[in-house]
Amino acid sequence: MAKTFLVVAEARGGKLRQVSFEALRAAQLSAAEGDSITAVLIGGSGSGTLATELAAYGASSIYVVENSALEHYNSEAYASALLAVADTVQPGAIYLGHTAIGRDLAPLVAARLAAGQISDVTAIARSGDTVQFTRPLYAGKAVEKKAFTDPNDIWVVTIRPNNIAASEPDASRLASVIDVAYPAPSLRSIVREVVKKTSGTIDLAEAKIVVSGGRGVRSAEGFQPLEELAAVLGGAVGASRGACDAGYCEYAMQIGQTGKVVTPEIYIACGISGAIQHLAGMSSSRVIIAINKDVEAPIFKVADYGIVGDLFEVVPLLTEEFRQLLK
Ligand SMILES: Cc1cc2nc3c(=O)[nH]c(=O)nc-3n(C[C@H](O)[C@H](O)[C@H](O)COP(=O)(O)OP(=O)(O)OC[C@H]3O[C@@H](n4cnc5c(N)ncnc54)[C@H](O)[C@@H]3O)c2cc1C
Repeated sequence: MAKTFLVVAEARGGKLRQVSFEALRAAQLSAAEGDSITAVLIGGSGSGTLATELAAYGASSIYVVENSALEHYNSEAYASALLAVADTVQPGAIYLGHTAIGRDLAPLVAARLAAGQISDVTAIARSGDTVQFTRPLYAGKAVEKKAFTDPNDIWVVTIRPNNIAASEPDASRLASVIDVAYPAPSLRSIVREVVKKTSGTIDLAEAKIVVSGGRGVRSAEGFQPLEELAAVLGGAVGASRGACDAGYCEYAMQIGQTGKVVTPEIYIACGISGAIQHLAGMSSSRVIIAINKDVEAPIFKVADYGIVGDLFEVVPLLTEEFRQLLK
């Protein structure tokens, strides 16, 4: 039976998040001939303007649910909007980014639809009728390969950002755009305002380059050289819990077991010892560069490149060198 894949597109600041295109690609990799790829945009008024971009990345139809109650993410409101679309589309699978929103929304919707769920997927392989999903376990120390037992059941899948490359956009692709009537629901809670805690414009979870600071950074001002390096490289700044606990930066920047999971192409750890809980959030990065003055620091065991030295000397030198190279 042909399946409809419904991909939940996520936008922030009026722009689609990269993980939305990666989730579309994930759906394409899972689909068999005859299956269709549909996207849904949920948000405040004007969200529908992003539909053309989703078409370029392969969605053949796009459902748009616009309502002032959907301006900010709210589990109850978004779940009811998504379920309204699911009711119309009757999807065989719902794909979301493994983001703060996706992690909240996916199990809620899966439970309401009595669907199975596979989370934090980093690779997809289809062979015959079987679609195999790969996901990391135990802080990346092991991988698990999973498949849904019945292809006819509804699947709910979340895709880890930065792992499944989006397909090349093709602006000539067309899609039908369907506005879904969504009467303002009566909600038990309302999100009035979202206060951003980090100043960076690049989303940490989606950044291709992350420059991260630990307790070795010594103060909030100590993050300044890291911010400069990140700015030159077009990356984002992250932190260890040690740095957050010490009050040098916001917890929104924390990477690790109890923080964000990042898989950038380059992760630069500055003054971070490499505790197992920190590695849980970054050990799947493609290239890890560690700067630490202690040659015995455990971070060097996972690093591809290690610089033994004082970060306050090394980081400005790197910044200057990259500034010249990337001019
Ligand atoms: C349940 C639980 C969950 C946790 N979750 C997380 C998590 O999500 N993320 C996380 O990061 N941690 C987490 N932790 C904490 C973790 O165990 C470590 O305590 C923490 O990661 C240490 O942070 P750090 O490496 O910045 O500090 P430290 O371990 O103090 O390391 C500082 C490093 O900086 C180096 N250094 C000092 N000065 C300089 C300098 N001038 N130049 C270069 N190097 C220098 C030192 O040699 C040292 O290696 C968790 C702990 C628990 C128990």
